[in-house]
Amino acid sequence: MEQGKRRFSIGLTGGIGSGKTTVADMLGARGAALVDTDLIAHQLTAPGGSAIPEIHAQFGAAFLTAEGALDRGRMRQYVFSDPQAKSRLESILHPLIRIETERAAEAAQGAYLIFVVPLLVESSSWKERVSRVLVVDCSEETQLRRVISRSGLPEAQVRAIMAAQATRAQRLAAADDVIDNDGEPAALAPQVDRLHALYSRLAMQ
Ligand code: ADP
Repeated sequence: MEQGKRRFSIGLTGGIGSGKTTVADMLGARGAALVDTDLIAHQLTAPGGSAIPEIHAQFGAAFLTAEGALDRGRMRQYVFSDPQAKSRLESILHPLIRIETERAAEAAQGAYLIFVVPLLVESSSWKERVSRVLVVDCSEETQLRRVISRSGLPEAQVRAIMAAQATRAQRLAAADDVIDNDGEPAALAPQVDRLHALYSRLAMQ
């Protein structure tokens, strides 16, 4: 774990629908090592995932699907209405995510490490863990449009998810680097190229 701490690392974040996954994949294609904390959280809560027994014990079988995965829709609704349930769920998930993340970071091969962390700005431990914070930025209208067209969720639900995240201004204030993703996908490549060159240089120092 100590070795992981010393390695040059980027924390990539942004609001829902900002384009985190898109940008992470582009940096990965250029040689960065990606650790996606959302993916890890999904694996922990998939059938047979290591968070499932404790979720079952604390919340009951009603929060699991027939296949034995976390019923995300049901849990999302429940924790929105009950902050205590939210912190109970987080106290199950966060330590497991941390362990799996560090394991993945040690195994990852690449010029430098990128942790993709949707709620990085909200977490002081994540801000301390990474060498630099990269924010993928776009307007709230753009976020809404993208998430609705990707997921089909009703607008009110997307707005509620956005309201539970840091604001655009809070994210920008925490950023060392910003990628503007309000425009066409083609506008990303030059920005990604510039940052990849910077990160590759910094990782060698
Ligand atoms: P996040 O990981 O931050 O939620 P994604 O990278 O998954 O965001 O992007 C959200 C959705 O918007 C995806 O369907 C993606 O293909 C699309 N998208 C991302 N960037 C752009 C862009 N510049 N123009 C149009 N669509 C985009």
